[in-house]
Amino acid sequence: MYDVIVVGAGPAGSAAAATLAARARAVLLVEKFHLPRNKSCSGILIRKTLGLVESCFGETVPGHVTCAPAENRGMVFTDDRGREYRFEQPGLNIWRSGFDHWLAGRAAARGARLIDGTAALACETGPDSVSVVMRGGGLVTERARYVLNCEGGVSALRRKLTGGRPDVVQTVQCFCEGRIELDPHYFYAYLQPELSGYDAWFNVKDGQLVLGVSAPGARGLPEYHRRFLAYMAQTHGLRIERELRREKWLMPRVRPGCPVDTGGGRILFAGETAGFLNPMGEGISAAIESGRAAAMAIDGHFDRPDRVGDAYREATRELHGYMARQWRFVARLAATFAEMGEP
Ligand SMILES: Cc1cc2nc3c(=O)[nH]c(=O)nc-3n(C[C@H](O)[C@H](O)[C@H](O)COP(=O)(O)OP(=O)(O)OC[C@H]3O[C@@H](n4cnc5c(N)ncnc54)[C@H](O)[C@@H]3O)c2cc1C
Repeated sequence: MYDVIVVGAGPAGSAAAATLAARARAVLLVEKFHLPRNKSCSGILIRKTLGLVESCFGETVPGHVTCAPAENRGMVFTDDRGREYRFEQPGLNIWRSGFDHWLAGRAAARGARLIDGTAALACETGPDSVSVVMRGGGLVTERARYVLNCEGGVSALRRKLTGGRPDVVQTVQCFCEGRIELDPHYFYAYLQPELSGYDAWFNVKDGQLVLGVSAPGARGLPEYHRRFLAYMAQTHGLRIERELRREKWLMPRVRPGCPVDTGGGRILFAGETAGFLNPMGEGISAAIESGRAAAMAIDGHFDRPDRVGDAYREATRELHGYMARQWRFVARLAATFAEMGEP
């Protein structure tokens, strides 16, 4: 019997597992894929994220998980009228595979039991514990006093527990060799509606030019991506010599008011599973912050599952308010996000 089973070794899950293990709780951290695993991401760690990593994991981000240029100097947003906004702030440029693997390793070093290549399939709540059915080599069932679901945005387990289909945005990004007339130390986002149904972006990782677009449905995605590459060629001198790879992903579509579901009783949700996703390079920080808050609520009220949910909601009230403010700011930059400005 574990104290807590944490599902998913992304930033939310590893932050929760590290926090609980540091408080001497018996923690099992299960990850569906073998680590290091890929996660589609621009991999920008803003200053806030770096601070959270240090306070939660007790170490600074190591050089081996960064990619060139390791130093990120900020973000440049182009609004729906083509006006540029520059946000200067020192941060880091990382590969998520190495970064997330390192975070999970930090949680394990603090005492969490980490099992990768194992997916949680279902959970069932009993009077004083939760059973989790998992598939790794075969089917196994483990029990814990609490389950913290940190599966990410498209959470199958949460869907089984709460019903409903997730509202998602589809993304596609390509990694290319070539040239461009933009400073590689910045992350660039483009909010013009003709370039994407949501947003488009560019950054550089280990010399590879990364160009992505997103849209609420998959149908328009290839055409948006083609238009975005043409725009970048015309506006910033993009010349692609060779496309190395292309990846598609899904991320949750945040709705007006930024609804979150943090769970309750013995089963809680954190990170994107709960609905925490800040725009402007703050997905990872929101995941770490909510994972840690859930862990502290469980630890602080361990024998009172009736109080844990409220304690966790209270602890994330500020994060939720901040998230709503950030989305309102994005709503002012582009008509595509106008609904996010509604109260
Ligand atoms: C294209 C793109 C670019 C982005 N760029 C940035 C950026 O530059 N900076 C930033 O801060 N944020 C960025 N984000 C957002 C950020 O990636 C997410 O918000 C963040 O990863 C959420 O963390 P999480 O721990 O909630 O979920 P995830 O990182 O998705 O981790 C969930 C983990 O759970 C595992 N899992 C899923 N199901 C199961 C199961 N049943 N059993 C066991 N394990 C399971 C998954 O394999 C995964 O490892 C970007 C997102 C996208 C899509």
